[in-house]
Amino acid sequence: MYICPNCKSKNIGKIGTHQFYCWECFIEFGVKKKQMELYQVEEDGSLSSLDDIFTPEELARDQYVYGDV
Ligand SMILES: [Zn+2]
Repeated sequence: MYICPNCKSKNIGKIGTHQFYCWECFIEFGVKKKQMELYQVEEDGSLSSLDDIFTPEELARDQYVYGDV
């Protein structure tokens, strides 16, 4: 399972094979091999990337994994 990279919540919904949604801070995130990708869901349903406000270290996947993925 994953922890939200933004708010560290475990209240995560799965919306795709590698796509998840945080019910606490309402961001969507994708999981790549080594990194997370963060998106904000806009009012019109489009996604805007939040990757530029996080450093590569902050997006490192391993720190957001707990239990079995
Ligand atoms: Zn969150």
